[in-house]
Amino acid sequence: MTETIPPIASPELNVEGFTRQYLRELTYTQGTTLERASTNDKYLALARTVRSYLMSRWNRTVTQEFRKPARAVAYLSAEFLLGRQLDNALIASGLEEIAAEGLASLGLDLDELRAAEVEPGLGNGGLGRLAACFIDSLATLNIPAVGYGIRYEFGIFRQTFVDGRQVEEPDNWLDNGSPWEIARPEQEVEVSFGGHTEVGPDGTTTWVPGWSVLAVPYNYMVPGYLNGRVNTLRLWSARATHAFDLKIFNYGDYAEAVRAQTFAENITKVLYPEDSTPQGKELRLQQQYFFVAASLRDFVERVLGPDSDLRELPERITFQLNDTHPVIAIPELMRILVDLKGVPWDEAWAITQKCFAYTCHTLLPEALEVWPVELLSRLLPRHMEIIYRINDEFLAQVRAKFGNDEMLVRRMSIIAEYPERAVRMAYLASVGTFKINGVAELHSQLLREKVLNDFAVFAPEKFTNVTNGVTPRRFVRLANPGLSALITEAIGDGWVTDLGRLSELEPFADDAEFRRRFREIKRSNKDRLVTLLKNRDGIDIDPDTMLDVMVKRLHEYKRQLLKVLHVVAQYDRLKSGELDPASTVHRTVVFGAKAAPGYQMAKEIIALINHVGARVNGDPVVSQALRVAFPANYNVTVAETLVPAADLSEQISLAGKEASGTGNMKFALNGALTVGTDDGANVEIRQLVGDDNFFLFGLTEPEASAIQEAGYHPAAHYEQNPGLRRALDLIASGEFSGGDRSVFEPIVSNLLHEDRFMVLADYQSYIDAQERVDAYYRDQEAWSRSTVLNVARSGFFSSDRSMQDYLDRIWHAKPVPVEL
Ligand SMILES: *Cc1c(COP(=O)(O)O)cnc(C)c1O
Repeated sequence: MTETIPPIASPELNVEGFTRQYLRELTYTQGTTLERASTNDKYLALARTVRSYLMSRWNRTVTQEFRKPARAVAYLSAEFLLGRQLDNALIASGLEEIAAEGLASLGLDLDELRAAEVEPGLGNGGLGRLAACFIDSLATLNIPAVGYGIRYEFGIFRQTFVDGRQVEEPDNWLDNGSPWEIARPEQEVEVSFGGHTEVGPDGTTTWVPGWSVLAVPYNYMVPGYLNGRVNTLRLWSARATHAFDLKIFNYGDYAEAVRAQTFAENITKVLYPEDSTPQGKELRLQQQYFFVAASLRDFVERVLGPDSDLRELPERITFQLNDTHPVIAIPELMRILVDLKGVPWDEAWAITQKCFAYTCHTLLPEALEVWPVELLSRLLPRHMEIIYRINDEFLAQVRAKFGNDEMLVRRMSIIAEYPERAVRMAYLASVGTFKINGVAELHSQLLREKVLNDFAVFAPEKFTNVTNGVTPRRFVRLANPGLSALITEAIGDGWVTDLGRLSELEPFADDAEFRRRFREIKRSNKDRLVTLLKNRDGIDIDPDTMLDVMVKRLHEYKRQLLKVLHVVAQYDRLKSGELDPASTVHRTVVFGAKAAPGYQMAKEIIALINHVGARVNGDPVVSQALRVAFPANYNVTVAETLVPAADLSEQISLAGKEASGTGNMKFALNGALTVGTDDGANVEIRQLVGDDNFFLFGLTEPEASAIQEAGYHPAAHYEQNPGLRRALDLIASGEFSGGDRSVFEPIVSNLLHEDRFMVLADYQSYIDAQERVDAYYRDQEAWSRSTVLNVARSGFFSSDRSMQDYLDRIWHAKPVPVEL
């Protein structure tokens, strides 16, 4: 590291400086001219221009951290669902207006160039988006932090519909080049797999790997909001080792060399689609170890330095494990300490436990990762040995504490015996970390009482809660410029980094003029959505209808089916004349959801939504009052236009199944009212916004559990509820499948005979809640009063607050301002 930063000034922060830099990028980096440039050229030049403003801050941040190391946070996550980078870089650097003006002076339109950016789809949904919100907040809070993850060559698949059915296409997000990443091939590290272990005469163990790959880091800027800090997100990409290539080339086998390269590079080829049933995919375990091993090595060798005293590691860093995906880091750190650095086992274990903390993200037992012992022993033989020893010592402690309760010991063992011997990663995480958190109050409580109950009894002090949040920069300031301006006019702009200040809006709920302007903004946000859906999907929606939105991954526990049943019931009532289209509240129901490609039932539900939608929209009577829109390929970019336009937010999971949800928070912050169950963070949203401003329905978690235990009979609801019966019969009749009764039979039959997520049990309560929604919506003054109160009372759901909670309860790192 050089002692002084070379005095290369950033381009001047004004329109002239911006324009000059833009033309320089277009001419000298992109190698074209204003006349010849394609839209992509113009976008790339713009991205590089904005990047150049942040570059000196990035360098300064990194230099400062090397000179004056402070306690840091490393967020380890297999997913970072970043969304578009340009918009966020513009607001973080204070360039938004300058860029718009500068580009206009060249005859270019900022919004048009913005739209050219392909978002990196490096995540499935909520978990990946949370990681992206968290690193944004850490930078804004001035915390020395780094995100570590995987640079998938193909992110989450691009969804299209053919005959209403989901078709997956590869997401070639890197095709046009990404101006936001900087490769650091000189900082590559080698990651090994396979082979065997050997014990030396002195008792030390050596892992003799069978093969290895290189991990090449790509750095992404994570700019704090107007504070001069730019943190780093480091994503690893797999390459074949040079030695490997050379040896094979020496034998002259070109094809074999290419095969080896392809094999190595497969590791970071694709993002695995989430389906809450982790499959024993060897490649997925390779991905996990690959990025975790590279990240630990990177931190220990490069950041701390090769000669550092690793006993100080816990003072320097907390590795936060985002779900179980990075949990193999625990035995990896043990291996580094014990095998490579010669630290005695007990001391190494004490260090390791103090370096890691674990965030659990689920309540579904089938979503807890397990890896077969056979696979782990083959792929990571030394790690398997380490896990055995960790388990032996842990179980000895369990016996010491609770006596020889062998049932308990078997329950708590990190190694499951049935149906096959497998490592329970959530248990390894619970044993190898100093803190375990759930992601909403209810979720943390259920973790303690159910999923990880034995561990909570064994070590209650480890358990805590941190309720999730979303970044107000992207999901309010960027996504909703109209509302942002209104809020700033009313209370100043401090809310962007201190979202609790939204509470100062409370008095404006009673200000008729403020409410009118709020409605006007909602209406113009709907106009933006109309344009987007028209251009992107060829879908026409009416901005003068209530926008009723359910967007999230497709999963049975989230209960998109409950929403479909409501649509079908309304269709039935409108068609039969029971409801008069002229006098009912006009709604547009918007769905957005991807199904994991291997999750059959989820894909059937997508087909059902599309087929019901086609029928509803095609019916001359029904469509006067009800329409369905299902734009394909829901992603962060779509969310940014959809959420600010929504009137009603559907958060209708079965109570006790959704860990937190973050979509629910985005909607409340943008003035949609929630119809929701008492689940995840909905509980806290309702407590904060008040019962009068939230449409609660459905069973509570204890009620649902009690029914399940006593024996749940979904068909009884069908038999006793005429409305429900008509809706289900209509689906079964072939009404939405061209008369073919077999198409949706599996869905109907599953609901009648299994209904694991109690759709039928909550049906009537949901329909009643929707009646209340309609009645309330007719009183637009009351409705808008509630929307203002939702915004004013949702400041708690900022990811800045989440990060502060992690800092106070887990990390204990302090802000370090970057000197300008
Ligand atoms: C916020 C977000 C999610 C999470 O939504 P939930 O309703 O909390 O499941 C998923 N996908 C995208 C693109 C998001 O922006």
